[in-house]
Amino acid sequence: MSAKLIEALRAAVGAAHMMTEGDLSAYELDWRRRYRGKALAVVRPGSTAEVAAVVRACAAAGVSLVPQGGNTGLVGGGVPDASGRQVLLSLTRLNKIRHIDADNLTFTVEAGCVLQTLQAAAETQGFLFPLSLAAEGSCTIGGNLASNAGGTQVLRYGNARELCLGLEVVTPQGEVWEGLSGLRKDNTGYDLRDLYIGSEGTLGVITAATLKLFPLPGAVTTALASCDSIDACVALLRLARQHLGAGLTGFEVMERFALALVSRHFPQLQQPLPEAPWTVLLELATPSEDTARAQLEALLETALESGLVSDAALAASLAQAKSMWHLRESIPLAQAEEGLNIKNDIALPVSAIPEFVRSTDAALRVALPGVRLVNFGHLGDGNLHYNVQAPEGEPAAEFLQAHERAVNTLVYDAVQRWGGSISAEHGIGALKRDELAARKSPVALGLMRTLKAALDPAGLMNPGRVV
Ligand code: FAD
Ligand code: ZN
Repeated sequence: MSAKLIEALRAAVGAAHMMTEGDLSAYELDWRRRYRGKALAVVRPGSTAEVAAVVRACAAAGVSLVPQGGNTGLVGGGVPDASGRQVLLSLTRLNKIRHIDADNLTFTVEAGCVLQTLQAAAETQGFLFPLSLAAEGSCTIGGNLASNAGGTQVLRYGNARELCLGLEVVTPQGEVWEGLSGLRKDNTGYDLRDLYIGSEGTLGVITAATLKLFPLPGAVTTALASCDSIDACVALLRLARQHLGAGLTGFEVMERFALALVSRHFPQLQQPLPEAPWTVLLELATPSEDTARAQLEALLETALESGLVSDAALAASLAQAKSMWHLRESIPLAQAEEGLNIKNDIALPVSAIPEFVRSTDAALRVALPGVRLVNFGHLGDGNLHYNVQAPEGEPAAEFLQAHERAVNTLVYDAVQRWGGSISAEHGIGALKRDELAARKSPVALGLMRTLKAALDPAGLMNPGRVV
């Protein structure tokens, strides 16, 4: 059966774009190095028709498929399992920008386009494509949509779902659903686009998307501010919203230890402010240059005078603004350098965050003396990366083995108590599948399983992930 399938796949994509041997670790090992699988074959189709042919060949053989974009996902959803019986479908050759519609403020792009390439292409035409995250140099728009990625501009522009108007999808049967609408209003029945966004490759393969563009802002200004407590960070967010309105495009928090890890592993990066319990990164975008600095300065002055903020630094140039963002974006990389860690990508109502942080920090420190908490994230969206690292000097792998389950239980129980979500932006994948089953309401889970069974009755699309 395998030989016949391999032959059909080769015919579908061409011998040059199929691999069955050699070092395939770029496709088989996930970014965090926690999941290593073995693929029956890696196929790299170059068009939607070729994707459909691959899916049909796999369906005929009863072999399952794992779609993959840039392989930067953090929940083990985009690499094959260890059986050696799954086909890895890489979308990276589908990398064309098909069409830019300036009056409609949209562009239609293929799934394998790298996010940074799309941002640059939009800018060249005088537009902003605002989706932005630390993996943007290698993640693909297909992967962003499949995992409904968030990132650093959600506060103003929304997550991947809110930036997408239409999709083209290859169904598990190998048919093509052409839903590339650039419409902002379309109430014609169930929303298939929203069903596929965030489905993590379990319902079909996204091959193209129509996305929203925005006018480029006239000026973007960035600042860092030191706060003594998470309560002060939340109060600063409220004040920033009052002062800056929709101009506030970023509001990120970094706890002291998160930035300490950055200075340990990337000492060359400048930290403009002295160490503080919390550092906030604020970004303001305005239509005109002259108002931006003055508005942000006025906000920081008010915050300093009222004692909400103990220190602040306003970027004086684009280079300084970039280096402030670079600090924030280096935290996940510094954490990876420090060793394996337990990642919790959680969402909470912003109002619940101070109490959540205080009580959960305390409970973890009692349960695991010496444990190091790496807390940072998108406070403006109520999304924390509340990560847990082994005590200094303790082997990380053994710490994870011994304590990951207990830490997850403690954190997720608290998240549920405060009305939050166990996955804000990274998705479920393989990592959180059991947690989802344990924590989602039976009615919601039943509906999800019904949808999966209806759309993919043979269970061949990324099995073992999500539901
Ligand atoms: P992959 O990792 O290849 O795949 C992710 C999932 O989508 C898998 O389940 C895969 O099967 C599926 N998939 C991929 N392509 C398709 C397709 N065309 N059709 C159907 N299914 C598909 N995420 C955030 O939301 N916000 C952040 O701020 C953020 N920061 C990050 C920082 C770093 C340093 C890293 C490494 C990751 C970060 N992420 C963040 C994780 C994020 O989910 C990914 O970076 C990105 O969205 C995934 O894109 P990808 O192309 O790499 O997808
Ligand atoms: Zn994030």
